[in-house]
Formats: sequence, structure tokens, C-alpha cells
Amino acid sequence: MLASFHIENFSALTDQILAATTAEVETALNSRVCTLDDLAALLSPAAEKFLPMMAARSRELTALRFGKTTQIFAPLYLSNFCINRCAYCGFAADNAIPRKKLTINEVEREANILKQRGFNHVLLVTGEAPAKAGVDYLEEVVLRLKNKFAALSIEVQPMEQEEYARLFRAGVTAVAVYQETYDRRVYNQVHLAGKKCDYEYRIATPARAAAAGMREIGIGSLLGLADWRAEGLALGSHLAWLRKRFWQTNFTVSFPRLRPAAGAFKPLINVTEKNLSQLMFALRIFDPDVGLILSTREEARYRDGMLGLAPTRYSAGSCTDPGGYSSNDHTGEQFSVGDHRTIDEVCRVIVNKGLDPVCKDWDREFQLN
Ligand code: SF4
Repeated sequence: MLASFHIENFSALTDQILAATTAEVETALNSRVCTLDDLAALLSPAAEKFLPMMAARSRELTALRFGKTTQIFAPLYLSNFCINRCAYCGFAADNAIPRKKLTINEVEREANILKQRGFNHVLLVTGEAPAKAGVDYLEEVVLRLKNKFAALSIEVQPMEQEEYARLFRAGVTAVAVYQETYDRRVYNQVHLAGKKCDYEYRIATPARAAAAGMREIGIGSLLGLADWRAEGLALGSHLAWLRKRFWQTNFTVSFPRLRPAAGAFKPLINVTEKNLSQLMFALRIFDPDVGLILSTREEARYRDGMLGLAPTRYSAGSCTDPGGYSSNDHTGEQFSVGDHRTIDEVCRVIVNKGLDPVCKDWDREFQLN
């Protein structure tokens, strides 16, 4: 039985962060190794006046660990069926949107378009409906696509370790599973029905995927649900916990901010671009090796400004509805996208910033087992 990660008291994280002093922020900025207490200081209101220094430190560490590379990927939505009712999501079971699950041939058609556009890393996304898009379907998709792409990640329903192991053998290289919020009270408030209501099962999922041998695990919080500062400290704690147990695994963190979606949900708290920047700089300083993902949820202007400062991976040219790359007959999308540029346009900006867009940073040949 795998050990579990816990956040005992989410509001205590907020209290710790709000109590941080200027002196503690300075200590954190000058530390060679950043502790969780240092992370709390970097996330605090006291750190806001140090934002330019945090950006400079974050830029330096990002360049040291990742060189000039900015990885590029695209999501490929396979299905928008979902049994859960997450108050904030366009795919929620009670939203009356057109539903679609791609056939294997339709998946291949979408994949061919992404390949032609230059993508070599694709994130396969589904709603959470195991009876529609379960492990058998995902395995079939992966077996069909694995020779087209260097990396295939999944963002689907949480699974058992054996199911992850099966998908890893089929060719999945990475699993993304976001806790959405580490605040159990808010978690219960926004997850209204379905298996996702089980906070414990979800928070234990990254460890199950890592134990199954996945090369990379992505964790994240959906910003706009609970105190973003405390989410940052919870993410840092979860990351440190996972690193201790799965030292051979690569980790990434995502910071999706809530976007307009079907339904009438409004973010419970406002998270600004400045807040998001502080969060990313703090995480980079805390864990210089972690991959940080900035998706097309964010506006082009903001994504361009953040290049080289902390994020290491960008999505580009994204459609968030199944079949959206090959058809104009759009089904329901998960959320509306903030950056509508093509991969070529995004890559051009990356190059103009003196960075290298990288579409392939992995090959199955590297895999030992
Ligand atoms: S967030 Fe995921 S689980 Fe929740 S409704 Fe949307 S697709 Fe379903």
C-alpha cells in the first residue's frame, strides 16, 4: 500500500504565509537551498515588493537548469463525456453541450494534423467517463499514435496503479492529474457529484502513477477556487513529498487560471497575472528542476512576457473540444482559450526572445524497460 500525501490544515498554510516578514523573504531569496518555510515567505504579501528580484533569480535558475529551451506541446481532446459535476467546468455532466468521443480513426486524423503542424508531444485529454473512455480505449489510442510522436501524455480520470502500468507499457510517457484545490472545504463545495468528490483518492493519484513507472508526473491547482498563496505552498509540499519517494521521476507543475466555460460559474477568488507570476517565480526558486507549464488559457501578451522567466513548457494552437483540429463542427469545449496563435507564431516569438522552441526532448529509445 502506497503512503499518502496530506494537507492537514489548509488555512494554517495561509496563516503561515501571511505572517512572513521582509527579513524572511530576503533569507529565502539568498538561500542556496530553498525550504518550505522559504517558499511560504516567497508566496507572501511581504514578497511582493521583491517581485523584480524574484523574477531575476527565477530567470537565472531557469537558464541554469533548462538552458534556452522552451518545450512545446498540444492537447488532443479525445472525449468530452464526463460523469462528474465540477462546478467550474464546461464538460460537467449537467451541462447541456454536444458530447463526442472520437473513434480511433478520428483520433488519428486529429493527430496527423498536429504532426503536420510540427508537434511531437501531444497531451491526450478526456473528461472523466471510464465507461466511455476507459483504459481499453486509451490503450488503443496510444498504440495507434505512439510511433507518430516522441511523447504522449495523458490527462484523464484517475486510475489504479496497474492501469497506469498498462498504459505506460503501451507508450504513455507522462500523467497529468491536478488536485484542482488542496483546500478540502472548497474541494467539497465545487465537486458536486461523481467519483471526483473523493478528495483522498485524487490526492493519492500522482503517487500511483509514479509508482507505475511513468517518466513524468504533472500536478497542479486550478487558480480561482481558493487562496492562491496557500495553493502554492500545498503544491510545493506535494512536490517535495513526491520527489523524496520517486527520485527517478520528472515532475511538472501547472497553474491553470479559471477561464470562461459553459455554466454560470464565476471564480471564487480573483487571481491576477501579477499573482500568477509570483507563484511561478516562487515555485521555480523552491525547486529549480521542476517543469513549469503555462498553457493557452493565458493571453498571448502575458505568455510572451513570461518567456524565459520561469515557465519551461507552452501549449500552442490548442483546441479544447474533441475533433476541433479537423472539423469546424465544434462540440462543447472545456474552456475558452486565451492565446489563439498557431505553433509557428508562438515559436517565432520564442526565437525572437533568444530561446529555442523544442518540440522533441524525448525518444522511446531512451527507455530502459
Ligand atoms: S474538470 Fe474534469 S472531471 Fe470535472 S467536469 Fe471537467 S472534465 Fe469532468
